[in-house]
Amino acid sequence: MVYRVAVLPGDGIGPEVTAQARKVMNKAALITQNELLWQEFPFGAEYYLAHNVVLPPGALNDIGAYDALLLGAVGDPKVPPGPLEQELLLALRFHFDQYLNLRPALSFPNVPLPCPIPPDRTINIAVVRENTEDYYMGLGGLTENPADSFNLSAPRKLYSFKATLNTCVSPETKAAFSLGLLSEPGIRRITQKALTLTKARGEKSLTVATKANALPQYYGFWDKITRSEAEKCPDIRVNLMNVDNLCYQLPRDPLAFGVILCPNLFGDIVSDLVSALAGGLGLAASGNIGDSLSMFEPVHGSAPDIAGTGKANPLAAILSGAMLLEHLKLNEAARLITKAVAEYLAGGLYLPLELGGPADTDRVGTAVADLITEPKRS
Ligand code: ATP
Repeated sequence: MVYRVAVLPGDGIGPEVTAQARKVMNKAALITQNELLWQEFPFGAEYYLAHNVVLPPGALNDIGAYDALLLGAVGDPKVPPGPLEQELLLALRFHFDQYLNLRPALSFPNVPLPCPIPPDRTINIAVVRENTEDYYMGLGGLTENPADSFNLSAPRKLYSFKATLNTCVSPETKAAFSLGLLSEPGIRRITQKALTLTKARGEKSLTVATKANALPQYYGFWDKITRSEAEKCPDIRVNLMNVDNLCYQLPRDPLAFGVILCPNLFGDIVSDLVSALAGGLGLAASGNIGDSLSMFEPVHGSAPDIAGTGKANPLAAILSGAMLLEHLKLNEAARLITKAVAEYLAGGLYLPLELGGPADTDRVGTAVADLITEPKRS
């Protein structure tokens, strides 16, 4: 089969790591009798500086015509924080309603861990983060006058939310606010995804982390909907936890956890903690998944401090590529990539510079690609 994949290499080390991911993905596709046709999109800091626009009209629709998107990283010290994150990254997530942010954390051989685990065990956690609601909806403001009025609006695929907020802060003082929103269909669909993933992994329990004790109206609502959705899957036990307790338990016993479901804000934080527990940014892959175009990207940023030096570890981008292939149902190709990464790291001789070895970005990618070989037929 032929698949059409969009790639947005972006800034800093983005182009370097996506080039290696493409090399490895092409090899895995070829060996499993598939072909990837790539279309590169130039958006990012350079494009913005040259054209004074983050995305030209129609760009999102053009990208949406592909089977999936591989993203490198976006961000450059020449562009102040804001436009690239909001008009590119968040625009992609919202336009394509990528409501699932999936962040697997796998430990690999020869990757130092902050909490040692028995040599015969591996950390294998998947954080399922709701990606479109909660405190990331862009609904907020700053009160600068004794009385202010704010028109808040969030058009989404599932619904459109509008509110007018009249504020009066007395005595007059500056105050910032942010409105979080959790909708019943939003919670139901992400809970379904988490339950399906738990089942697919052959596990019997799903951890759900909120903070219903402190915010009962808000996260209590999430817990109630999650519980009622989970009743449809009686073979899976739902373990509701407060997120602070989860952050305490995770480093003490990471092997006790499988799938962890969180609302957006906690998911962002917990998934970073889990990546650190499993070996750090150099290996952390992610997917932004929805019912139309899904986007796969390493968790790390554009790392301008090491761009062009060969120090970038491309394994996170390569593992994100494996997630992309799995999303396209190329499960065998995805499995071959993960296996090759594990074999490469187990070899231990030519580890990436980031892990204290001698291998630059290109050498890591080539070594992994070389380890992808025809699966043995019995
Ligand atoms: P962002 O906000 O876009 O995530 P950031 O500045 O918070 O960006 P990164 O760009 O990910 O974070 O960089 C954090 C640190 O980790 C930097 O010192 C960078 O060099 C290092 N780093 C990030 N990714 C890699 C990688 N793939 N290989 C080696 N080092 C990396």
